[in-house]
Amino acid sequence: MRSDSVMLRVVLAAILAGTLLPAALIAAVGGATWWTLALTAGGEIIALLWLALARPGRASGLSNALHDRPSAHAEHTRQQRLATQLRDVRDAAQSWPDAIVLLDRQGCVRWRNTAASRLLGLHRQADERPLADRLSGSELGAWLRKESDQLHTDMPAPADPALRLSVTIMAFGAHMQLLLARDISTLNRLEQVRRDFVANVSHELRTPLTVIHGYLELLDPADLPELAPVLVEMRMQSQRMRQIVEDLLTLSRLETRHALPDEHVAMAPLLETLRREAEALSQGRHIITLDAATDVDVRGSGHDLHSAFSNLVSNAVRYTPSGGNIRLSWQRTSAGEAVFSVRDSGLGIPAEHLGRLTERFYRVSASRSRESGGTGLGLAIVKHILNLHQARLDVESEPGRGSTFACVLDVSRVIDSTIDTLDSGDSSPAGTSARRL
Ligand code: ADP
Repeated sequence: MRSDSVMLRVVLAAILAGTLLPAALIAAVGGATWWTLALTAGGEIIALLWLALARPGRASGLSNALHDRPSAHAEHTRQQRLATQLRDVRDAAQSWPDAIVLLDRQGCVRWRNTAASRLLGLHRQADERPLADRLSGSELGAWLRKESDQLHTDMPAPADPALRLSVTIMAFGAHMQLLLARDISTLNRLEQVRRDFVANVSHELRTPLTVIHGYLELLDPADLPELAPVLVEMRMQSQRMRQIVEDLLTLSRLETRHALPDEHVAMAPLLETLRREAEALSQGRHIITLDAATDVDVRGSGHDLHSAFSNLVSNAVRYTPSGGNIRLSWQRTSAGEAVFSVRDSGLGIPAEHLGRLTERFYRVSASRSRESGGTGLGLAIVKHILNLHQARLDVESEPGRGSTFACVLDVSRVIDSTIDTLDSGDSSPAGTSARRL
């Protein structure tokens, strides 16, 4: 296609030369006649044809030039747009209220925003020392050196110890890390106000309730037969109120603790006590068994572990109809964890409630809880106690078939090195919902 057009141009050039040159010569010697004019006109036509042929070539050259220029322009615009976007992202990160620090593989600050200067005291940009060294002497510096957890929920701000921080560190890019620190001082203060309020109200209610309960105990329903049902109800309700206040005080006490006593808790007598308590609460309405598959003891607070375990026992008795089975067991998992569990053949809990059971006053059925003398605080107490032992609560349940509540204590709390593995037949049957709380 291209070579055809070249050929054509060559032929046209030859014709052009063959017509225009003789015409020019004749004109030069003064013999201009009609045929010299015809030759000249023909030459002009050929010249026009030449131009016409040449134009596409020139046009394509021009279009290339035009095309090249917009692509360079587009590239420039694209780069400008990217630069603007980058600036916007950096400005947003710069004015973000949380501290953001980008650390390189040596742990040195590559970039930090304004909040990082304010909260962490990172004012000098050109400090080449690792961040842990720059913050040495602060809790954050020590934590960075250890880097045991990815999230530290509450620590003083290095720049101002009156401020409290929640700090997260995460991998970023190939070998970098991103440190985020949020000022949680206001949140902490609000939480403290809430805790103080609940503790104070409970304390204030405790004395008048004790007085009322005392007087009610003095009144014998037999002496006032017409008021007997009223008196019985009043005693029951005042007992419930006292129990709620006691549970709220227990929760307040647990909330203010960061650690509990680290005693040697002898499990054999504790398990026996729990079994007796279950028998006493059940009053012969259930078949109660104790299966101690291991004889290991644990480290922790004996008083609080007893309180957590007996809450589970009490629930099993209260939510299992007469004739049902309740099995207390003490076992170890293949990972060496120690597990205290209470399995019942009672009412069970629908799956959608499992995740919320440890919330204060959360009840699957409010009327059932009240009828059985519940306060709605038992599992919240259990959860707090287990948290303070770095333990967890696993729940499995199937409505109409029963529930299993298991307190799983880490191997580091176990006082014994022998491992008695949990029976693999313990796996949940179909239809059972399970939850780690
Ligand atoms: P409560 O004092 O109401 O029993 P808890 O915090 O101990 O409060 O338990 C929360 C709710 O969980 C209870 O109201 C009850 O609905 C449900 N629940 C707890 N244990 C069991 C169980 N073993 N079987 C069935 N439901 C249970």
